Amino acid sequence: MTLFPAHCARDALQGFDEQMILSIQPEETVRSFVARTLFIKGKHSSEEVFRKFPKNRALRADILLIAEMQGWIGCYGFNKMLHKHTNYPLNEVFKNIQDISYSRGEYVGHSYCYGSNRTPAGFCPICVAEDIKRLGFSFWRRAHCCELKVCAEHNVELVKRCPRCDEPFCHGGHDLNVMWTTCKGLHLKDSPVMLNTDLVELKKAQVFAEILSATHHLSEEAVLAVLDEKIHQDDNLKLRILDSRYDQPLGDTIKWRLEIVKGARFKNRLPHRENTDFIIQAVLGIYEKFSDFVIDVKAYGDEIRPIESLWSTYISGYQESTHFVEENYDQGVGVWCCPFPARDSLRMWDWRPVYYPCCSFERPKRKGPQPKPERVKNAPPGVHRRK
Ligand SMILES: [Zn+2]
Ligand SMILES: [Zn+2]
Repeated sequence: MTLFPAHCARDALQGFDEQMILSIQPEETVRSFVARTLFIKGKHSSEEVFRKFPKNRALRADILLIAEMQGWIGCYGFNKMLHKHTNYPLNEVFKNIQDISYSRGEYVGHSYCYGSNRTPAGFCPICVAEDIKRLGFSFWRRAHCCELKVCAEHNVELVKRCPRCDEPFCHGGHDLNVMWTTCKGLHLKDSPVMLNTDLVELKKAQVFAEILSATHHLSEEAVLAVLDEKIHQDDNLKLRILDSRYDQPLGDTIKWRLEIVKGARFKNRLPHRENTDFIIQAVLGIYEKFSDFVIDVKAYGDEIRPIESLWSTYISGYQESTHFVEENYDQGVGVWCCPFPARDSLRMWDWRPVYYPCCSFERPKRKGPQPKPERVKNAPPGVHRRK
């Protein structure tokens, strides 16, 4: 009888080093990491943050605690976890040039959900077998736990239902632990391999993989301008109606958003957040390779910012302008700034960029009553100091 490597790992840990914190693997989902920790260490000897991690909706505080367990602290750690271990980059890699934060105000907000157990997980049998050979165990990968149907690396169909009992890997079906056990004697690494023949699905998987592993942000305006120009050379694509909430041809959706983004830049006001499905659809329709698209976007001339350079910063408020706080872990302080003071439509304001040493946004002098400062309701989060 062969023991599965995960069992070996668990046996080795029992009574040996229960204080050890496991490491999240590259591309592993947060949910997989939590489930794997609980499985290996056992529910009773696992840290409380793993035991209390919600089964249904993971919120900001849950992600923050898991990031801290890896030693990734503050806003930087929160964004690092989002960028490397969730599918969040699909929405954030195309970034407004006036947004200097990775995840806007989500570090201090509450509403966004970072994955739930109702989203079906999936796996590539070859990746699973290779992980076991390489590491001694396997895990759930983020690109295989979204809408994709194909493994970008091996061009095989992702398995989204148990080959033995046909249950999905989500609420109501198998839980993630099936990765480290078996279903009626079948280990997932021994699932049948189905070669993919759909080239569109393969290209989509490859583009997703490029976005997920992006090291630099692409300016949203540059992205839209490049797509707008290309799409008007191709009527087929321009008039395509997406199967989504945009009830208009793809060409119109791109033009509509481009105008909003350009107008917002002129006024120094961040535009509303928009789903990026239509951008990805257009890239897939126009380009053979994501790298060719990146070359065109770079030629537009907007700054290409390293993604990590935005991880420490969050949006602290939207008054007339967008306010940011950058956490400085050497000093243990948050540095407030307002790099793009909004232009008023009547142009009554001075819109030269200014940085202030403290949190007092200087208002223009006007006649009549002056606005009074307001006491903030919630204190901003404390900033960690690197020891
Ligand atoms: Zn694979
Ligand atoms: Zn099963």
